[in-house]
Amino acid sequence: MKTVQVKLPDNSYDIYIDNNLDDKIIEFFRQSNFSRTAFIVSDSNTGALYQEKITQLLQTAGYTVTGYMISAGEASKSMETAQILYTEVINAGLDRKSPIIALGGGVVGDITGFIAATYMRGIPFIQIPTSLLAHVDSSVGGKVAVNHPLGKNLIGAFYQPKAVFIDISMLKTLPPREIATGLGEIIKYGLIYDKEFFSYIEDNSAKIFNYNENVLSQIIARSCEIKAAVVSTDEKENGLRAILNFGHTIGHAIERETNYIKYNHGEAVGIGMVAAAFISVKMNLIENSILPAIEHILQLCQLPQKCSNCAADAIYNDLFHDKKTIGGKINWVLLDDIGQVHLDNNVPESIVREAIDYII
Ligand code: NAD
Ligand code: ZN
Repeated sequence: MKTVQVKLPDNSYDIYIDNNLDDKIIEFFRQSNFSRTAFIVSDSNTGALYQEKITQLLQTAGYTVTGYMISAGEASKSMETAQILYTEVINAGLDRKSPIIALGGGVVGDITGFIAATYMRGIPFIQIPTSLLAHVDSSVGGKVAVNHPLGKNLIGAFYQPKAVFIDISMLKTLPPREIATGLGEIIKYGLIYDKEFFSYIEDNSAKIFNYNENVLSQIIARSCEIKAAVVSTDEKENGLRAILNFGHTIGHAIERETNYIKYNHGEAVGIGMVAAAFISVKMNLIENSILPAIEHILQLCQLPQKCSNCAADAIYNDLFHDKKTIGGKINWVLLDDIGQVHLDNNVPESIVREAIDYII
């Protein structure tokens, strides 16, 4: 078993990674001082696959367990679903010390964390993330949220879990396209923080899609370490945490302009990373050869490199709608090398437009 410690000024917790965590889960819940009424939130896919098993583990640890399955998909990350969940946890008799468990991808993790942060002003939150994206991204860092009809993740909080259990065997039921979307973020960690890790992903991409447990546990653990390292220096996103936004400025614009239908998040971020690398080349920050190297790794990881049929002007104008654009200035994350980035809010418009032309 691999363990990654997330150390924050007011809170620390462990992320456990293995291909079977049953005993660890039982031990953790048995030894905790939680009230013995637990509630599991899953979605229609993850619930059907794993809810019974996790319920049994908690029962073995001495808990009375109830739960609720939301419909799979981003549309469930809403205030309406949150309202249903509040009613469910009240009816289940959860008190201030009762644990709530997120069993699912980022959608389940985000909304369950939001309920945990707000119900009775905060109850113990445990994550059992099931998608690769949730393993390496949404379950690390403590951002919880629901969407508003006017924008994604607008209603939320920072709320850290008590523990995260990453059971790699659950990835066997995850469709390959969802593996690829997680890889978008994993490649990002290599690019912003760790050149050797970037090469490791490049060398082992085929094994990832073959669900090789050793390779998966390596890349998940290293990704969690990198995200935890960045987040622990800047939990509330005032500075360094912004480097996690690499590829996301244009990625988010692509997602919005294609109505969140054509590309999923990791795919859009992949294209956004090509654009950010292109800008870095034009600003004379990196060697030309880094751009094709990034395109190549995306291809190996079954991620697109171009946004087909996207309109350049629409993407450009959309950049200014990003939540992270402050005072009309875009804070670009640019490459100095593979594994090293810096922030720059003075990229000329002409270079940004050239980069967009390149990726469409
Ligand atoms: P998701 O939760 O919708 O999961 C993707 C799909 O895979 C769903 O249909 C789900 O039911 C299915 N699934 C998940 N695990 C499975 C498994 N083991 N077997 C079979 N099917 C499985 O999407 P996601 O990509 O996991 O997460 C995206 C969400 O995460 C977005 O809402 C995004 O805003 C959020 N997010 C949050 C953070 C954060 O810091 N909190 C970071 C990144 C993303
Ligand atoms: Zn992302």
